[in-house]
Amino acid sequence: MEGRVRERIPILDLTPEVEELWDDLMAAITRVLRSGQFILGPEVEAFEREVAEYLGVKHAIGVNSGTDALVIGLRALGIGPGDEVITTPFSFFATAEAISLVGATPVFVDIDPKTFNLNPDLIAAAITPRTKAILPVHLYGRPAEMDPILDLAEAHGLKVLEDCAQAFGATYRGKKVGTLGHAGAFSFFPSKNLGAYGDGGLLVTNDDEVATLGRMLRAHGSKRKYHNETVGYNSRLDALQAAILRVKLPRVDTWNQARRQVALHYNELLADVPGLVLPEVSEGHVFHQYTVRVLGKRRDEVQKKLGEVGIGTMVYYPVPVHKLPVYAHSGFFLPEAERASQEVLSLPIYPAITEEQMLYVVGELRRIQDGDSRQPSRGVWRGT
Ligand SMILES: *Cc1c(COP(=O)(O)O)cnc(C)c1O
Repeated sequence: MEGRVRERIPILDLTPEVEELWDDLMAAITRVLRSGQFILGPEVEAFEREVAEYLGVKHAIGVNSGTDALVIGLRALGIGPGDEVITTPFSFFATAEAISLVGATPVFVDIDPKTFNLNPDLIAAAITPRTKAILPVHLYGRPAEMDPILDLAEAHGLKVLEDCAQAFGATYRGKKVGTLGHAGAFSFFPSKNLGAYGDGGLLVTNDDEVATLGRMLRAHGSKRKYHNETVGYNSRLDALQAAILRVKLPRVDTWNQARRQVALHYNELLADVPGLVLPEVSEGHVFHQYTVRVLGKRRDEVQKKLGEVGIGTMVYYPVPVHKLPVYAHSGFFLPEAERASQEVLSLPIYPAITEEQMLYVVGELRRIQDGDSRQPSRGVWRGT
């Protein structure tokens, strides 16, 4: 280990959770193995019922990934070639990719620098006769400003599909995100707030027709096997993943609460560290990420220095979607998204992060930001 930092705090550590749930996970996995039913079936149906009840929504449809939930959601809402969908440029690529995959065109609207979410004041100007939908993202687990978005959608006859991939369990004015618009798309990618141990996703809606179409589309466009009515997808949730999610679902509120506590504590500890902008612990925010801004064009340097002392951080996202090669030709100029992509830095956050780990992260960040010539406090953190 000569010359390397042994002590590491990863940005995300899923192992404490697996240890905590081990017996329940083994029982769930064994039950599925013994059942001999591995795709859809009673385990997935049970999860769909439980998650629908948790979210307070009529229909929940298990699919293969969050990306598929977006694609199937858009198609079930009737979005297709020739349509424009208004969305945020400050998200994971899949948000815009789903719009392109159904043959529609993403129209990017800049973000509110305080929330990192779609700025509702800028949406009206982007609406054209071809606009069919708005696709807000609840980035980092912070609910987007839904009231003005829903008002605009209502006034212009637009559909609203919520990208809830980072915001399972988040609430907006007391309602779970995903249930505010016409449909909501969730991801169960392992790192998400409710994560499977493989790929998985969920489409939710209160609309019976959207639900019927969604269920058809996930199974090759058929209601009845071998009676395909439209061209769909092979996008079904696995029984093993559903069984694992059923173990985790009853714990998700506790974990989200723990994430909010971690964020509050980081905010206290970092309050007097210069050159940072800290996230607001706003109502309903479930802190999928704890993301600060590093001012003064120092983000990359700070990230590198934290890496040198064994602290894992991530930049979500270094290139805003409208600047990626796929969309760069569209010529959008969105200064807030571009500035955010230069300044954001996500620090380690997970429910089981310890006080000692947080103090180490904060101590190192303070040292780097103070421009202190003291040696890095290598070895202070003696955890795993
Ligand atoms: C993770 C994520 C997705 C895609 O989910 P997958 O399950 O990985 O397909 C979509 N949108 C956002 C904002 C995400 O964070």
